[in-house]
Amino acid sequence: MANQEDQWQPDTKAIRGAYQRTHENEHSEAMFLTSSYVFENAAMAAKHFNNDLQGNVYSRYTNPTVRSFEQRLAAMEEGEQCVATASGMAATLSVIMALLKSGDHVICSQDVFGSTRVMMNKYIVKFGVDVTYVPLADLTAWADAIQPNTKMMFCETPSNPLSEVADLEALATLSKKADALFVVDNCFCTPILQKPLNWGADIVVHSATKYIDGQGRCLGGAVVGSAALMDEVVGFLRAAGPTMSPFNAWVFLKGLETLRLRMQAHSANAAELAAWLNAHPKVTKVYYAGLEGHPGHALAKKQQSSFGGVVSFCVKGSREDAWRVIDSTKMFSLTANLGDAKTTIVHPATTTHSRLTEADREAAGISQSLIRIAVGLEDMIDIKADLELGLGAL
Ligand SMILES: *Cc1c(COP(=O)(O)O)cnc(C)c1O
Repeated sequence: MANQEDQWQPDTKAIRGAYQRTHENEHSEAMFLTSSYVFENAAMAAKHFNNDLQGNVYSRYTNPTVRSFEQRLAAMEEGEQCVATASGMAATLSVIMALLKSGDHVICSQDVFGSTRVMMNKYIVKFGVDVTYVPLADLTAWADAIQPNTKMMFCETPSNPLSEVADLEALATLSKKADALFVVDNCFCTPILQKPLNWGADIVVHSATKYIDGQGRCLGGAVVGSAALMDEVVGFLRAAGPTMSPFNAWVFLKGLETLRLRMQAHSANAAELAAWLNAHPKVTKVYYAGLEGHPGHALAKKQQSSFGGVVSFCVKGSREDAWRVIDSTKMFSLTANLGDAKTTIVHPATTTHSRLTEADREAAGISQSLIRIAVGLEDMIDIKADLELGLGAL
């Protein structure tokens, strides 16, 4: 059986991989809600504790449900190992804590997830790790930012909310030359749309909270990469504790089973909505890498199998006008979350990006008239009708 499983295609591994039925012969995966495990006798306990025997000891170290999720996601990303974490932020934190030390330097794309920036600027710097931010798509800026102590390059592509695209292959080459680790936050694409490790990235981090769950229930994250690097990350997680709960792992396991279908549907809906917005008289600009006029289009086409579910656009007018559009929709959920079957709408300048100064926001292109939609899986007739209600209020 193990042999047959190794031969399976990725889609089959996502649904059936890395799971051994228990003696109860369950069809759906069992959930192991247990914090610890018992030993047959004192000698066996001792062997587990000094690593003469491999096996479950304590769920901060290993849990069968979490392990199944990790192995399936590793197979989908085509990485050697995956380590699950309590949240997406715990994934990024674990990578930094495990693999950097005082005196190291990080280059980070400037429009990464807001909490990633806060974590770096407020906490990571306290431990003597310097961070330089560069525009995601500007290869010269990345190259110019490299210092002798640069140990990590970190990016998120496509970017939120403007859908800018990083050249993964070029950045991987640059990082190898600099002898730095290249880390990619693959939350927006998931392995269904983009596999950064295959373009030369060393590590992928995920917020499973978004598309991997897909229905807005649980927080979780993951780190994927070589066995050697993941050993270091596991070491930090075991010692420090931001590990994934078995309940959440079970929800994400179920999410992986439908991830391909959902990502294809999110992408198809978003592409249709982007084209519709592009032709709308009240809309002045649309940001979606799937549109041919978008500066990241060619790169996205090269390294992604599709363009994802997030579309942003500017309306004619000011902040009040953008708010009026948002408040005049009825069906969409007004929330900063994304990656959900339910369409979400948000005003980035006053929510997700409100911590930036007005000057930084303008420089990053996040204007007051910008609205972000994470397109869900509802019928497109209703999605367009709800947005028409919003735009009709202008
Ligand atoms: C949400 C998100 C995170 C953080 O994940 P949490 O699960 O909320 O901790 C990191 N990166 C991106 C791109 C995200 O969207």
